Amino acid sequence: MKRREILKTLTMLPLAGAMGNSGSLLNPAEAAQQAKLDVFKEFGLRTFINASGYFTSLSGSLMHDETMDAIREASKHFCRLDDVQDKVGARIAELLHAESAMVTAGAFSALMLGMAGVLSGTDPKKVARIPDLEGSGMKSEVILQKAHNDGYAHALRNCGVKLITVETSEELEKAISEKTAMMYFINYQASLGGIQHNEWLELAKKYQIPTMIDMAADLPPKENLWKFHDLGFDLVCVSGGKFMRGPQSTGILSGRKDLISAARLNAPPRGSNIGRGMKVNKEEIFGLYFALERFINTDQDKEWKMLEDRIALIERSVTSIPGVKTEMLPLPAINRVPTLKISWDKAKVRLENLAVNLRNGNPSIEVMGGAGSINVTTHMLKPDEVKVVAERIRAELSGALI
Ligand SMILES: *Cc1c(COP(=O)(O)O)cnc(C)c1O
Repeated sequence: MKRREILKTLTMLPLAGAMGNSGSLLNPAEAAQQAKLDVFKEFGLRTFINASGYFTSLSGSLMHDETMDAIREASKHFCRLDDVQDKVGARIAELLHAESAMVTAGAFSALMLGMAGVLSGTDPKKVARIPDLEGSGMKSEVILQKAHNDGYAHALRNCGVKLITVETSEELEKAISEKTAMMYFINYQASLGGIQHNEWLELAKKYQIPTMIDMAADLPPKENLWKFHDLGFDLVCVSGGKFMRGPQSTGILSGRKDLISAARLNAPPRGSNIGRGMKVNKEEIFGLYFALERFINTDQDKEWKMLEDRIALIERSVTSIPGVKTEMLPLPAINRVPTLKISWDKAKVRLENLAVNLRNGNPSIEVMGGAGSINVTTHMLKPDEVKVVAERIRAELSGALI
């Protein structure tokens, strides 16, 4: 029976009961069970076990029940959106050691709204003008290190600024002019640049230029949430829907009070600004808050150990297969989770692409890589999925032995 038909049947039940059980109806408990909405089934969509990571294309991370409860409760009443941002923002700021904070539509949105705020200040004419900076009286350049010029800096360019890349502190000082609006830093690329956080901040202070850091995916450790405020960055941008497991469409912009106030002038509920398309409503704002609070209160050492135990279980399931090798990948600054690489000798294991086999199997499993090796993570797994992943990988590899 289709869901809609079951729902129709359910509404008829009292009457049907009064007429005596015809035997053609499900009992109410069964009917209620079957009528439960399964959005994926309704649209014929494949769901999968996620041993890959919180990637946007894989629909991010799964929210905790507390987050969903907050979203459901928030959906039942009206409230002024500015008041929600004021109150929740103040609580977030306190947790993050920041003067002020706002919930944005992802870290990309935090970058863009923060940039817009730096450019406009609280001048409504300037807000209306962005990204059309020429002749506006607004500054128009952002300085960053060459190694920090990743695709996400597009968020800054959306505001009309030009990116000026430098490699040394001498080049940096030469690049600074009255056009310089901001100095931008990407945390995960720090080791590739010649200028580190402290020097970057000192130079910015010397020339009184606002600073922003993108640390969107640099959790865990949770201390990163306040580390960059403590260091002295004026604006910090983080994703809500990655390791934190808030709504996938959220992020946080936190930092200097005057800059957050200015950023908010560039965002909904106000229109006629560059951020109008980056709306977050009360549901997402509360959802993000409770996800953040839970994340901060989680025992991260215990959680880390759990992730490693899961990896060890998966590793043990394949190590005895001839020609199969495992290794832990070095921990990067971004997406910092235990990651297991499993590779196989093609002379011993006849396997074209293990990731494709796992995807097409039942249950479907997503991993990274595929041809010659796969990378497996465990932070997006539900507890009962760990064994399933271990067994499916083992079955695929041992089944392909020559
Ligand atoms: C994911 C990511 C972003 C964008 O974050 P969203 O929350 O998806 O908007 C920005 N910068 C970096 C370095 C990221 O990894």
